[in-house]
Amino acid sequence: MKIAFFDTKPYDKPSFDRYGKEQGITFKYFETKLSEDTVELAYGYDGVCVFINDTVNAAVIDRLYEMGIRVIVLRCAGYNNVDVKHAFGKIHVIRVPAYSPYAVAEHTMAMLLTSIRRIHKAYIRTRDFNFSLAGMTGFDLHGKTVGVIGTGRIGQVFINICRGFGMKVLAYDKYPAAGLADGDSIRYVTLDELFAGSDIISLHCPLTEDTYHLIDADALAKCRRGVVVLNTSRGALIDAEALLQGIKSRHVGAACLDVYEEESDFFFEDFSGHILEDDTLARLISMPNVIVTSHQAFLTEEALATIAQTTVDNIVRFREQRENPNEVCYRCGKTEDCCRGKCF
Ligand code: NAD
Repeated sequence: MKIAFFDTKPYDKPSFDRYGKEQGITFKYFETKLSEDTVELAYGYDGVCVFINDTVNAAVIDRLYEMGIRVIVLRCAGYNNVDVKHAFGKIHVIRVPAYSPYAVAEHTMAMLLTSIRRIHKAYIRTRDFNFSLAGMTGFDLHGKTVGVIGTGRIGQVFINICRGFGMKVLAYDKYPAAGLADGDSIRYVTLDELFAGSDIISLHCPLTEDTYHLIDADALAKCRRGVVVLNTSRGALIDAEALLQGIKSRHVGAACLDVYEEESDFFFEDFSGHILEDDTLARLISMPNVIVTSHQAFLTEEALATIAQTTVDNIVRFREQRENPNEVCYRCGKTEDCCRGKCF
């Protein structure tokens, strides 16, 4: 099979070439993102492989379908950029539900420690032979309360890491995980209780209609003064403008963002020689207590290998018309109890 691979980065190729070759699958790598403007590039291929910032809307799906394409493989877990309702019954949409929850959870903790211990400031200071400690006071994580929203794979790994630091955990999930709460140091609570009781809040739920702007001005108003907000999930879980106002008013103590609402316009690209058009992003980045990484939480060698291996396996299962638990379908794809493609 020949697959058109969109939004290619240099680190994608080695693992996809390796696992693809083993299964007789060739990838044609396009640097451009998939969109209505670029969909013609997929002509003559058997499927498309996309990432988080490709646009797979109704128009793109219709054109792919006209070209005879019957499979879209996502090399990521989230599929909010794919109109799965429109694809239903036409094109199979298959994702990589998990590759390394450790990669994302560890990056979340790396950002938290960097922020609260001012490592990002210290790195720049000592490179300039400035050994002053003024303004570097942090706080202990031990004994603090972390609110974890979304206790799936990544959320649970993050909770374990936090427990290693001696933190208490308040958890919220639409579908709480059986056996996770221990009634003492890990407790499921309502969202409002989580907002009111957490020193740090970390987001690990998917972006859905329910979770869009989960953290907005109202939510922030319910949080403790000085709250640290972590988002390594999806940008639009947070109203970025409300977060900025929270930072400016000193109500929010710090924010660590691996994702941003409008990231598809900027992330993964080099804008260092350009004037950034997004004032909210520019202002957030300018804040001493905001750390932004460019959706890199997933980027470990282990995760890249698993992503390629699972994507190739998804293509093979499609080729062999085998049932696949990684299939996303509209009829039940919006919930966590998806039929896994059986009702396609
Ligand atoms: P998962 O499916 O294992 O867990 C998601 C959890 O969110 C589930 O427990 C689910 O019940 C819960 N949930 C669903 N709707 C909810 C709601 N309305 N309110 C609260 N909780 C809700 O997914 P995961 O593998 O842990 O990934 C979590 C998220 O991390 C993904 O949705 C994705 O957006 C993000 N992610 C980011 C990166 C990155 O590089 N930054 C990489 C992978 C995944």
